[in-house]
Amino acid sequence: MSRRLIIAANWKMNKTPAETAAFLEDFLPRFSGPCGVDVVIAPTFVCLPKAGEMLAGQTAVSLSAQNMSAESSGAFTGEISADMLKSVGVQYVILGHSERRSLYGETDAGINSKVKAALASGLLPILCVGETLEERDGGRIEEVLTTQLTGSLKGIDQSGIEKTVIAYEPVWAIGTGRTATPGQAQEAQAFVRKVLGDLYGAATAANVRIQYGGSAKPANAAELISQPDVDGFLVGGASLEAESFFGIVQAGIDASAT
Ligand code: PEP
Repeated sequence: MSRRLIIAANWKMNKTPAETAAFLEDFLPRFSGPCGVDVVIAPTFVCLPKAGEMLAGQTAVSLSAQNMSAESSGAFTGEISADMLKSVGVQYVILGHSERRSLYGETDAGINSKVKAALASGLLPILCVGETLEERDGGRIEEVLTTQLTGSLKGIDQSGIEKTVIAYEPVWAIGTGRTATPGQAQEAQAFVRKVLGDLYGAATAANVRIQYGGSAKPANAAELISQPDVDGFLVGGASLEAESFFGIVQAGIDASAT
C-alpha cells in the first residue's frame, strides 16, 4: 500500500507575518512544482492571511491552522471557526496537539467535536495522539493510544477517517531533542494502524497517513521515514528555518522516489 507522504511544519507561537513572508520567500523557490510529497505549514492565526496570499496559485505547499473552534460562530471570545480559516486559504488543521491537551485542558471529547467540525467544513484534520514518558514507562502506550484514538474519532465515518491524518507524537520527544528510535516509532505507529483497523477495517486503515512527530530533524528524518508505518512528519523546532525544514522534506522526496 503506497501512501503519499505528508510533512507538516508546526510553528507553534513563533513568527510574525513579516517573518512568515521571509520564510516563504526562501522556502517556496526550492520547489519547481508538486514534489510528490504533501508539504504543509502551520503558522499562527495572524500569519494565515499573509501565508494564504503567498501560497495562492502554487501547488507545492499547503496551509494549516494549529487549532480551531468546534463552533461555527457566535459568542465564543477568542475563538476561530473552520469557515474563517477556509476563507484565508487554510486546508488543514492540527487538532489535539499535546500542548493543547496538557496546557489548555483539551479532552478527547472536545477534540472529537473539533474533528467533526473540521470535516463538516471541508478542512483536513491532523489529529495528534501520543503518550507521556510516565505512561510509556508504565507500559501504558497501547491503552493511551487506544483511548485517544477511539475518543477523538468517535462518530467519524470511513470517508472522514480517509481525510484525516494521524500524528503520532510521543510527548517525551516533543521539543526535547530526544527522538523516538525508528523502531519505537514504527512499533507505536503500527499499533495506531491496528486500532484504526479495529475501528474501520484493515483496508481503510491501510490508506490512513500516520506522521511521526518529536524532535524530527534532517539528520534523523531518512531513517525514521524508511519505516513502513511512518508516512511523514509533524515538525516543530526544525521547521522554523527554511533550510532545515527543506532538509526533512528532501528526506521525504527521496523516500517516495524509491
Ligand atoms: C510538535 O510540536 O508537533 C513537534 C513535533 O515539535 P518538535 O519537532 O520541536 O519536537
